[in-house]
Amino acid sequence: MTNDQKENLHEPQFIPFKAETRQLLDILIHSLYTDRDVFIRELISNASDALTRISFEMLTNRDVQDPNAELAIWITTNPDEKTVTIRDTGIGMTDSEMIEDLGTIAHSGARTFLEAAQKGERKITEIIGQFGVGFYSAFMAAEWIKVTSRSCRPEASTTSWFSTGGDTFSIETAENKERGTEIVIKLKEDAQEYTQEYRLKQIIKKHSDYIPYPIYIGESDEQVNRQTALWRQTPQEIKQEQYTDFYKQFTLDYEGELAHTHIVIDAPVQLYALLYIPSSPNRSVLTPRKNDGLQLFARKVLIQEYCQDLLPPAFRVIPGVVDFEDLPLNVSR
Ligand code: ADP
Repeated sequence: MTNDQKENLHEPQFIPFKAETRQLLDILIHSLYTDRDVFIRELISNASDALTRISFEMLTNRDVQDPNAELAIWITTNPDEKTVTIRDTGIGMTDSEMIEDLGTIAHSGARTFLEAAQKGERKITEIIGQFGVGFYSAFMAAEWIKVTSRSCRPEASTTSWFSTGGDTFSIETAENKERGTEIVIKLKEDAQEYTQEYRLKQIIKKHSDYIPYPIYIGESDEQVNRQTALWRQTPQEIKQEQYTDFYKQFTLDYEGELAHTHIVIDAPVQLYALLYIPSSPNRSVLTPRKNDGLQLFARKVLIQEYCQDLLPPAFRVIPGVVDFEDLPLNVSR
């Protein structure tokens, strides 16, 4: 963007998407999805990353916009207007960052994503998060998206970004808001389910329950996520009772577990695992676990519900979770 354009941001500026981003959008907009819930997970993960970045910044610098804002994520819906809105008080984006991050600079992941998507071997919704293209997944459900953001820099003003997923996006100066990012999604006719709070709660419970910031839903600010990931706490500080409670919630096996092991490793990869030996080899009929395998997380975000590649086949009945801090790229998200 030239300086002239920058001064003119009170008028919307139309900027073409980078070719690779365009291709990506085409794939996301024009395919049919059975599993597009993941866009909620992706936007929440982005919000959580932005919150982590601001809390990191504030360790050494209090000279930021709204230093006392609560670090959290708010989700509201408007069924009449057919919108769902996700807001965070994270690090925010300046106008130039929005232009780069949401459109003109193709992420290194975009090309790899396109190649994987074109091969068609795996579901697109399974590979979205892996290649750093999470934001765009919202176009699976969106007629248009409006992002309004205010960077943490004290001098930054608020900017909004708008796109229908066409060839261009527009960007303009907006009325000043609190620090952070607000994403409004106008839902496609066939995606109205995402205006229902119970659906959003379901998705958050399943995919984003352990996000380390509160996620509030609706006007009443009800916190939906449980937040504490037991497996990321220090084993010495956890009581046996807590392990058993978690096991019962996880499996609905009220007999409790036979044994558990809690593993925390720093090298060669940083990972946390909590594995249980069930009291009986058969899954209870009530169990939410519909299959064998471990739950695979990357930084507390559920990536795969039944991962059968982490243990030898004979141990597949073992329920548990494995959470990588840095998910190696050859493990699918
Ligand atoms: P990824 O998050 O994997 O890098 P995305 O396409 O989801 O890829 O997002 C692109 C970039 O846009 C992010 O890296 C981040 O810089 C910026 N971004 C997205 N959402 C937010 C947000 N809620 N707050 C601040 N920055 C964001």
